[in-house]
Amino acid sequence: MISTIPTYLEAFSDYRLEGDELKIFTYPSPVLKKIAKPVIEFNGELKSLCRNMLYTMYKAPGIGLAAPQVGISERIFVMDIDYKREKVTRADGTLDFDLSGFNPLIFINPVIENNQGEVLFQEGCLSVPGIYEEVKRSQSITVKFQDWNGDNHSIDADELLSVCIQHENDHLDGIVFLERLSLIKRNLLTKKFLKKKKKKV
Ligand SMILES: [Zn+2]
Repeated sequence: MISTIPTYLEAFSDYRLEGDELKIFTYPSPVLKKIAKPVIEFNGELKSLCRNMLYTMYKAPGIGLAAPQVGISERIFVMDIDYKREKVTRADGTLDFDLSGFNPLIFINPVIENNQGEVLFQEGCLSVPGIYEEVKRSQSITVKFQDWNGDNHSIDADELLSVCIQHENDHLDGIVFLERLSLIKRNLLTKKFLKKKKKKV
């Protein structure tokens, strides 16, 4: 078991925003309710999926994205809780965003252990856009996972990193954050979201 920062980070030391933007499935798409399957083959296809997921996450923008959110029911999620996003005006006057300070993380076949303490964080989700609510999570966790070469890693996480890993890991078990709320809040926010979604269509 390697307990340092995984080697795949080296692959991203010169990370540039490149890839294909994938379609993000929104609640209540059936794929978001499925238990995702473990990744067995660590190949080029997996690497390009991870790259495209990161690209899609940065574009959205979000700090985490799980494979079921892009319609792929496999145990993979990507995350970056460190990058910066700055509003800029381009030469032609259009508003845009400059992204920098990337710290992309990729978790494959993750297993969460050693849940300790409790913390309340306001969460949002790219699959439930526009809805934010406080969710109770473990304050600190250990997560065992594989990188895209199939090598095993284990890291301890707390605060935002811990919360984010738990949120993304839930997606692999077919759970969206609304389902972690009290029944009253859950019903209220689900209704609000679906009403808003209907209006847009
Ligand atoms: Zn989410």
